[in-house]
Amino acid sequence: MLKGRILKGIGGFYYVDTDEGIFECKARGIFRKKRITPLVGDLVRINIIKEDEKKGVIEKIEKRSSELIRPPIANITKAIIVFSIKNPNPHLSLLDRFIVLAEKEGLEIVIAISKIDLDEDNDFEKIKCIYEKAGYKVIPISIKKDINIEKIKEELNDNTVVFAGPSGVGKSSLLNSIDSNLKLETGSVSEKIKRGKHTTRHAELLKLDFGGMVADTPGFSSLNLDDIEEQELKDYFIEFENYSNDCKFYRNCLHENEPNCGVKDALEKDKISKERYKSYLQLLKEIRKNNRRY
Ligand code: GDP
Ligand code: ZN
Repeated sequence: MLKGRILKGIGGFYYVDTDEGIFECKARGIFRKKRITPLVGDLVRINIIKEDEKKGVIEKIEKRSSELIRPPIANITKAIIVFSIKNPNPHLSLLDRFIVLAEKEGLEIVIAISKIDLDEDNDFEKIKCIYEKAGYKVIPISIKKDINIEKIKEELNDNTVVFAGPSGVGKSSLLNSIDSNLKLETGSVSEKIKRGKHTTRHAELLKLDFGGMVADTPGFSSLNLDDIEEQELKDYFIEFENYSNDCKFYRNCLHENEPNCGVKDALEKDKISKERYKSYLQLLKEIRKNNRRY
């Protein structure tokens, strides 16, 4: 059997990238019986049916290390979360939301702050400070002035990456500048709608010519927290971990109103940023409200 990876799926056919080229495959009926649907990104074993026509059949799907819902892609290893310094302005509580969802999926996270050429007041420093303190890599980039695009390429190397972030921050432009074979549509949101960009399409993994793969659709386009429990949220604010051993109630402390809380101590000593903590409380409140509804 030949090892490969599903790059694309259309109408029951899966396009599997192998050492011997791309094979058009169907999945064995057994998967349907077991209610398993092959996903783009899946690592699979195929049997070749017709060598000359490059047709095969998927026999086995390896265990997934991650499984995103939007876009539906398996085995993504890293999320590059893009927010622009201007047009649109960075909305940090929204950034924290993206981070929570990526942490839940167990992805490595890199934050890219785009359109840095528009940063006249050096607003970047503040953002960098908040997120580096939390433990994330923060990279300022500009496509217009070609700043740090190489660094983003290094992040892609040998990883399977999804770009995430709000509309209009420059994700498509960034992808196009990373690999000249990619020709994604760019422009303002209204321009894209006019051109019909929002018609349904299938998620696809694009192989980059310098190594690595990228999802052609932005990640986490739906940002609801429905699957996150109240007790779980704190685990996705990774900087809390360093201080929660000092909490009187250890793993049960929500770092909210509990006495002797290590996280709140760290907050007072400015080791945890107020902005992040505020986002945490806000999301906690939202999760509670959701839970009550059901
Ligand atoms: P997406 O919705 O995140 O995919 O964003 P697009 O790639 O479509 O870009 C949205 C707009 O931002 C476009 O008009 C781009 O020309 C512009 N843009 C992208 N990168 C930069 C940059 O580095 N600097 C500036 N000033 N504008 C940029
Ligand atoms: Zn605590």
